[in-house]
Amino acid sequence: MTVRASLLTETGAPLRVVDLELPEPGPGQVRVRIAATGVCHSDLSLARGTLRQLTPAVLGHEAAGIVVSVGQGVTTCAVGDRVVLCWAPPCGACWFCEAGEPWLCERSSDAAGAPYATFEGSDVYPGLSTGGFAQETVVSAAAVLTVPDGVPLEHAALVGCAVMTGVGAVLETARVRAGESVLVVGLGGVGLSVVQGARLVGASQVIVVDRSPDKLELARTMGATDVLEAGGALAKQVRALTDGRGVDHAFDCVGLAQTIRDSWSSTRRGGHATIVGIGSKEQQVTFSALELFHFARTLSGCVYGGADPRVLMPRILEHAAAGELDLAALISGTTDLDGIDKAFTDMEAGIGVRFLVVP
Ligand SMILES: [Zn+2]
Ligand SMILES: [Zn+2]
Repeated sequence: MTVRASLLTETGAPLRVVDLELPEPGPGQVRVRIAATGVCHSDLSLARGTLRQLTPAVLGHEAAGIVVSVGQGVTTCAVGDRVVLCWAPPCGACWFCEAGEPWLCERSSDAAGAPYATFEGSDVYPGLSTGGFAQETVVSAAAVLTVPDGVPLEHAALVGCAVMTGVGAVLETARVRAGESVLVVGLGGVGLSVVQGARLVGASQVIVVDRSPDKLELARTMGATDVLEAGGALAKQVRALTDGRGVDHAFDCVGLAQTIRDSWSSTRRGGHATIVGIGSKEQQVTFSALELFHFARTLSGCVYGGADPRVLMPRILEHAAAGELDLAALISGTTDLDGIDKAFTDMEAGIGVRFLVVP
């Protein structure tokens, strides 16, 4: 059976809408009709080669839809279920899963390395195990989680990556508590999800920095208390807003050496900097040995929100259903399978937060 899909034929090439041969789900797999897929910065990195991607591939990993068929032995979902897709489903059996750190699962990305469809006789790979830039996809049953009534699938899609990552960084990696102060550097889908997560836990002060005045204003509507246009001496500006101390928690959602260094320097003695943005290996950050002692700060990496998606995603969806997270506000516009390259160039230009592909 064929479905329309946006294909990355090779790294760096423009995407091409094609008819993909998508087989029926095998044992333990499900077939999902995609309702919407967010265009994430990682898709851009995979398309351009900053992150490694086997080709040809169908990118798109922030997706939600409806189960249309299930393979042999699948009992966790049924035809007609509304689901969000998880691009890193924990295997539940490896060393990291056993140790209670399923977001670091050794096998969670196995499906990304296995062809799942064909185009003109060539094997096609699912970007980040998901293949969301298509009318339908086939994924492991472990990669689908039910969406509660009251959350539109278009909103639920964002929970598959940006919201899971940003809210998870606040709740699980940094464990921000009520009354603490927070700095968020970079206001894309993840950064604005950090802002909303900070509001959710009752942070007393949420300082945001970005180069776009529009995004700063948007952050204000989501709970930011202080906005700073990028380009100034950030640590100094942040200390001026925090009685000279610095914030309890900083979140870097950019992934550049400079923004990581600024995030670190903006936290108080004993503070916590969480690095959420994915940078390249060329971005080298330096710290003096003396400051590591003197400031006694913690620096944490953050993979997929540092949480078990099977636990945190349902919690996030409940918060969304209760109106405690404003997922609609993260959506800058919708496009179809032909419009993804345009969404990429907008993203590179800093335009918009999240574009949704409705295939
Ligand atoms: Zn993503
Ligand atoms: Zn595992």
